[in-house]
Amino acid sequence: MDSARVFAGDCTTTFEGTRDRTTRGRVVVLVKPDRTVLVHDADGYQPVAWLTRPDSLAVEEDASGFGLTARAGDQTLRVVAHEVTGRATYPVTEAGVPVGHHPETGEPLVRAGGGVLGVDSGVRFPLVAGATVLDETCDDCGLPLMRVERGAVFEVCVDRSCEPLDDVVRERFDGAWSCPDCGSPLRLLRRSGRLVAGCDDYPACETAFSVPAGVVVDSCDCGLPVFETATKRRCLDGTCELFRSPGSPPAGGVGDENVRDGGRASTDESTSDDGRVPDGDDE
Ligand SMILES: [Zn+2]
Ligand SMILES: [Zn+2]
Ligand SMILES: [Zn+2]
Repeated sequence: MDSARVFAGDCTTTFEGTRDRTTRGRVVVLVKPDRTVLVHDADGYQPVAWLTRPDSLAVEEDASGFGLTARAGDQTLRVVAHEVTGRATYPVTEAGVPVGHHPETGEPLVRAGGGVLGVDSGVRFPLVAGATVLDETCDDCGLPLMRVERGAVFEVCVDRSCEPLDDVVRERFDGAWSCPDCGSPLRLLRRSGRLVAGCDDYPACETAFSVPAGVVVDSCDCGLPVFETATKRRCLDGTCELFRSPGSPPAGGVGDENVRDGGRASTDESTSDDGRVPDGDDE
């Protein structure tokens, strides 16, 4: 687990950079896991001096004192203790919204940094794009469930090794749609880190679409399903020229035609407008 270090004492603090400044007083120095150094005195909320994510940080300590030197570009922050009143190292985690307790360790679980995190052990369960964490817990392991939209709404364990999302999505949609290019069934699989609907005739037919975060609400004139995502309706094929969303002109401008003709476009599971899946691109 990450730790934060705290130093306290009568110190001289020197900052060299855009504006040089030297101060002396009894301060508390906080060093965060990313090496950010904050020097606090008694006044107000703002540090007397600080350096965010320095390139280097040297801490010298002995029985009688401590000294810190942080450097970022042409900025240098130096703190030298004349008299030490305390120093300690504490474990720290990201702080997040509480989402229950770990069924085995009993530790609090929080949602932070795109995952569910145990605040004692540091255990982390990454969440898939667009997932929300529910109050309900998994019948098998007791961890919280997450709600995920991948064609339909699925409620699965946040521990993807307990209840793989891919399995439940596959159970529902594997082979349910046909390849618009050759008519073979589309299989649900994970390719290069993405959940995709890919042609069964691969590699002869390389047609594949990332499955967007949304639910199927309609079918497109091309035969593929229409997804309702957080922001809009779209064909599973984000470049589909036959797709018309209600009240708006058909999709498929000049740029989209290029994408379609080129066959493959760069996509990202969380932000993609375009369902075509590239080869060899990690999530
Ligand atoms: Zn579970
Ligand atoms: Zn095909
Ligand atoms: Zn379509």
